Amino acid sequence: MLIIDRMVAMVRAGPGPSPEERAAAAAQYQAEEKARQVRQAEERQAFLTAAPRYVLPDGSAWRSAQMLGRLSNGGERDRGRLYHIVSEDGCGPMGGAGSALCGATPGRRSVGWGDVEGVPATCPRCLKRVAS
Ligand SMILES: [Zn+2]
Repeated sequence: MLIIDRMVAMVRAGPGPSPEERAAAAAQYQAEEKARQVRQAEERQAFLTAAPRYVLPDGSAWRSAQMLGRLSNGGERDRGRLYHIVSEDGCGPMGGAGSALCGATPGRRSVGWGDVEGVPATCPRCLKRVAS
């Protein structure tokens, strides 16, 4: 009986945080996580604002991006070193495998276009298409 009394007292007294303390800690964590996400979104927005953006006469928006991964054919002789001009929807974290402005398309063994790059496009054929 004495042992059980002691155990009950231990459970009641702690040492762990009370439900209120736990809720406060969870709320603080969530607030910090939210602030982190907002900060990341702001940084992403600032990066995208600063990164080169090419708008064609038809209103479509394009970005500088590199092809990722190994290339499966000799058609893309730059081997991924060139910065092509890729549809804004076709690059980024969910990058696709559409054609660049010059027609370059990720091959079978490429994983597609990389994220938007902060440097201007270097592919002469892409740049020619933008200038014309
Ligand atoms: Zn190109």
